[in-house]
Amino acid sequence: MSKTGYFTHRDCWKHEMGPGHPECPERLDAIEDRLLVSGVFDALERYDAPQAAAADLELAHDRMHVAVMRGYSELLAEEVLAGGPEFSQIDPDTSINVHTWNAALRSAGAGMAATDAVMAGEIENAFCAVRPPGHHATRNKAQGFCFFNNVAIAAKYALERYHLQRVAVVDFDVHHGDGTENILAGDMRALMVGIFQHPFYPFCGDQNPAANMVNVPIPAYTRGMEIREMIEMAWIPRLEEFQPEMIFISAGFDGHREDDMGQLGLTEQDFAWITQRIKDIAKRYSKGRIVSLLEGGYVMNPLARSVEAHIRVLADL
Ligand SMILES: [Zn+2]
Repeated sequence: MSKTGYFTHRDCWKHEMGPGHPECPERLDAIEDRLLVSGVFDALERYDAPQAAAADLELAHDRMHVAVMRGYSELLAEEVLAGGPEFSQIDPDTSINVHTWNAALRSAGAGMAATDAVMAGEIENAFCAVRPPGHHATRNKAQGFCFFNNVAIAAKYALERYHLQRVAVVDFDVHHGDGTENILAGDMRALMVGIFQHPFYPFCGDQNPAANMVNVPIPAYTRGMEIREMIEMAWIPRLEEFQPEMIFISAGFDGHREDDMGQLGLTEQDFAWITQRIKDIAKRYSKGRIVSLLEGGYVMNPLARSVEAHIRVLADL
């Protein structure tokens, strides 16, 4: 049995937001090239991500949000057929093309299928190489390159489908996971711990809106060793106290020091360390169950190296 699953789907390559947009399909190419040449792919159990159903999306989103997104997508398809533009803008930095709807369903479906495979004991943990990312999508709003909140959908799915009592969501993207916070704040079956650059997009998160949120805002140019200390002090005691039965990761690698989307000083060694600390908690309380979903990471080489380092820890390579 392979211990670590790898979930993706070719539909995730087809979603594009326009020429020069940093959240581009080449991100997944860079990750897969690196996993291939490093031999890491050989150690992973690979799965095609299924499409989430509308009812699954509604685990985390208002029915109206799902309907509006579907409506945008159908309208664009008609306009493209009539010779209109390829992209339709949802917010200043977030657009759809005719493939976005399917890519978004695959991305949400990846997290749920990974949850199923982990709960069934087929694999111990999983990485979902998906786009669009999800952690800025709120209950009723697409924003910040995100349409549906993949990690929140998977966490809610684990709670509902498997009747778990406690799931943790760990978010180490350089940006605050405001959408995940919006969906999970006050749901005491979930504990969300996050680190993020602040003040920075989305310009919130410096306060904890509910007792189940552990937000750790970090000034620009903070280095990896200091971030490790903050994680050790702020996250670990709360995770130990909570004793999660399963852990979900919003795995954003845009806090890498070579990623100019943000200004944090993390390296692939730091991402490996963070993953190991999460894994320690999962081994102790969660039967090792971790489902990690790709969020940010926009410079190809550091993104690919960081994902490799993250998966090497998950898979004990
Ligand atoms: Zn980000």
